Amino acid sequence: MQWFYPRYIEKNERENFYQEKFEYNKNVFRWVVILLSLSEITYFFTDCQIFGRFAYETVIPRFIVLVPLAIFLVYEKIHKRYFGNIVFSYMLMHICMWCTIWSIWFLPNRDFSREGFLAMQFGFLALGISSPYYLSTLLHALMFANLFVSNTFIHYEHFDMILTLGLPIFAGITLLLKVLENNYIDHYMDEKKLVELSFHDQLTGVYSRNILDKILLPGTMQLDFASAKRVWVLLFDIDYFKQVNDNYGHETGDKVLVMVSGIINENIKDTDYCLRWGGEEFVVFLQDASKESAADIAENVRIAVSESRKLDCAITISCGIAQYLGNDYHQAINDADKALYRAKENGRNRIEMKG
Ligand code: GH3
Ligand code: MG
Ligand code: MG
Repeated sequence: MQWFYPRYIEKNERENFYQEKFEYNKNVFRWVVILLSLSEITYFFTDCQIFGRFAYETVIPRFIVLVPLAIFLVYEKIHKRYFGNIVFSYMLMHICMWCTIWSIWFLPNRDFSREGFLAMQFGFLALGISSPYYLSTLLHALMFANLFVSNTFIHYEHFDMILTLGLPIFAGITLLLKVLENNYIDHYMDEKKLVELSFHDQLTGVYSRNILDKILLPGTMQLDFASAKRVWVLLFDIDYFKQVNDNYGHETGDKVLVMVSGIINENIKDTDYCLRWGGEEFVVFLQDASKESAADIAENVRIAVSESRKLDCAITISCGIAQYLGNDYHQAINDADKALYRAKENGRNRIEMKG
């Protein structure tokens, strides 16, 4: 009964969740819509079997579905949001249903409509896989409104059986789609947790290297180079950290790392990024900063670390600074590393700028 456990997606996350669910099944969704619409045409051959001849009466009702299908294919190329695509696809399914009703009007034997409508329910099931659960239930249920309305003029030969066979299938599909949505919620939450874990350093809580691709890759860029090519890289390295470990133990060494990362975070803006680069090295990306403000921030961190009395051991830190121009971040970090090397050479507890 695992599926029965309530799954909850926060309200402000729901849009994102449904968009991701839609995109996860995007290719399947497109093909489902195409195949379902084309299956309306295969029903034409069923019409011919019922007539025992070429069913010229149902050519238009059966083939006309190609028009809304073509419009849909253009629409889904342009519109990427789940809501419009899902509603459109269900409407297409309802158009197919009304085309079927239109064809049934001509058929000499209307008893087969029962099977036709049963088969149609699987179309709703297939669409529901990409759809928000509430939307699939609502738009699928509209099928019964179609049946009641059309019965007023078609007068199906066993309308009651269409309902008694159709309703349990509707209920089963609704249940199955809820199970699938619950599974997708689990998948979504697990993925979020993993991303969160992989983007953060477990000890200090600052970002890990893994965030680099997310913030630096073209298209995913969160560092804004377009408006201001003023991104600066600071590479901090704790001085003689090995000695801290040797003299005070690893536990104190860990506390120093937490303290230093805390001081760095206190000195940068929310839009800047502090990453734990290696053991006792931190890289900071400053956004929209001048050369002077980059140097000021590095200097403020250096002073705050050297003056901190939070721990028993005295700590100092060195920093190399370089500008990042938006292409290969390795280059900027190498530049900062060279500057850091000079800071170490020149006596530590100091900052050096590239160039
Ligand atoms: P320098 O001033 O030249 O930077 O000297 P250093 O001793 O800091 O140089 P080095 O980079 O060789 O030493 C880094 C040390 O950091 C070695 C390693 O034991 C320690 N370290 C790396 N990761 C951790 C960690 O997560 N916790 C603790 N406590 N120590 C770590
Ligand atoms: Mg080091
Ligand atoms: Mg060091």
